[in-house]
Amino acid sequence: MILETYLHSILAQRKAEGLYRKRHTHQGAQTPTLLIDGKTYLSFCSNDYLGLAAYPEIIHALSQSAEKYGVGSGAAHLISGHSTAHQALESALAHYTGRARALLFSTGYMANLGIISGLLGRDDLIFMDKLNHASLLDGALLARAKLLRYPHADVAALDRLLQANPARHRLVVTDGVFSMDGTLAPLPELVAVAQRHNAWLMVDDAHGLGVLGAHGRGSLEHHQLDSEAVPILMGTLGKAFGVFGAFVAGSDALIETLIQTARSYIYTTALPPVLADATRTSLQIADKDQWRRDKLQALVNQFRSGAEQLGLPLTGSALTPIQPLILGKPERATALSEALYTRGILVTAIRPPTVPEGTARLRVTLSAAHEPEQVETLLYHLSDCLKHIHV
Ligand SMILES: *Cc1c(COP(=O)(O)O)cnc(C)c1O
Repeated sequence: MILETYLHSILAQRKAEGLYRKRHTHQGAQTPTLLIDGKTYLSFCSNDYLGLAAYPEIIHALSQSAEKYGVGSGAAHLISGHSTAHQALESALAHYTGRARALLFSTGYMANLGIISGLLGRDDLIFMDKLNHASLLDGALLARAKLLRYPHADVAALDRLLQANPARHRLVVTDGVFSMDGTLAPLPELVAVAQRHNAWLMVDDAHGLGVLGAHGRGSLEHHQLDSEAVPILMGTLGKAFGVFGAFVAGSDALIETLIQTARSYIYTTALPPVLADATRTSLQIADKDQWRRDKLQALVNQFRSGAEQLGLPLTGSALTPIQPLILGKPERATALSEALYTRGILVTAIRPPTVPEGTARLRVTLSAAHEPEQVETLLYHLSDCLKHIHV
């Protein structure tokens, strides 16, 4: 078949299934109001939970750093790309997570590929929650290990799988906060089961870090779990911290091993040093500005109680800024998203294969940069648009 013919058939099929994906191009920084085609939209779909993506102090840190380090790192970490900026951020992240060491990756996607394929191989077993992030799944595929998936948050099912499937190296991997659902993994129970079966445990806390816990240190702080309970902690820097990049934190031996074996660490250009410096400032602000977490939690409470009163299909956790409304068919999620868009509100529809069949949704996310009036506006239009949707 001719390539162009093939491509057009794929696109036509996507459109027919209501699964065609499009991008909105906005003209400025990631803030609650976005300018798209000259029109202002109220946005509820970023992962900038603490409102740090365009915060002046962090922008200043970045431009100061550029004076010293320039723009590009110019090489991979193991060649000549590893700078004092990277080193300082790794130390700060180790301190932040209460672990011996941390290792920077360019993105969370690459971190998960590198960690999983750097630690496991062909004869090993990986156990995952069915709702884990796509990058974890891809890490398992790249490792060529055997992948066993358990139903969402079903610790008893994991227990049975571990019982029935022995191997020399076994890794249990879970999101700390599930990215499309906002639910928390049952971490204390997962720790107990993993320990009972001598399996290793890895937590991807992309959506918990900066948000959960008494000091915002994430899912592990929330559940009061240490590095013995969860030896492999992965986090991202482009969500609550508002910058870019990712890391893994753990023991000295874990980090040294991954420096030798994680191919997505070794064979790629190091993150620009300016981003490392910006992130270090962001960590300090996330740490000291408790008001950001308090305000975010107040907005979450406001949204949930408003949605409940209006009879909206609320799910998720009362503790996280991810507040999806499950709508079922992709056409229904798309119709609601488009109706909101015509009223100047941006909430993108999330459809299969990102989420399971029959659970297409609007993934509403809140940020400390939102104001209560903006949440009221969202609630009003959500409820009004839902009355007029008939698919
Ligand atoms: C966003 C996300 C990632 C990927 O991180 P990036 O830095 O955006 O590549 C990994 N895991 C989870 C759970 C995520 O939500």
